[in-house]
Amino acid sequence: MPVRRSPQHTSVSAVPAGPVRTCVGCRARDSRSSLLRVVLVIDATGSPVLVPDEAARLPGRGAWLHPDPDCLALAQRRKAFGRALRHAGPLDVTVLATTVLAEAVARAQDGQVARRSGTPGPKSNKEAG
Ligand SMILES: [Zn+2]
Repeated sequence: MPVRRSPQHTSVSAVPAGPVRTCVGCRARDSRSSLLRVVLVIDATGSPVLVPDEAARLPGRGAWLHPDPDCLALAQRRKAFGRALRHAGPLDVTVLATTVLAEAVARAQDGQVARRSGTPGPKSNKEAG
């Protein structure tokens, strides 16, 4: 009985299809969907604040970061946000850090249950301002 083998050169490793971005923390390249887009906004007091742009739709420059506290710490150490976002001076990462931590906790709780991006994230019905 001849065993038919289809020639498969599956040397295709985990190269993500689609757009790839570089994490400003660990400098690893990853698919856009695995990274969190971070933008700089000016808050009511005129202070620059880093905020996550989870829908990746906010205008302006964005930095890409793994939603991982380690990557956030690395990015801060290297002042990578300032460089990526063309901003000199201190940046408030409180909001971003909260999001990254929440994301890390959520992932840890989910375990191996990977959330598919079939449904859009939680949408708040709150009308802003
Ligand atoms: Zn990273």
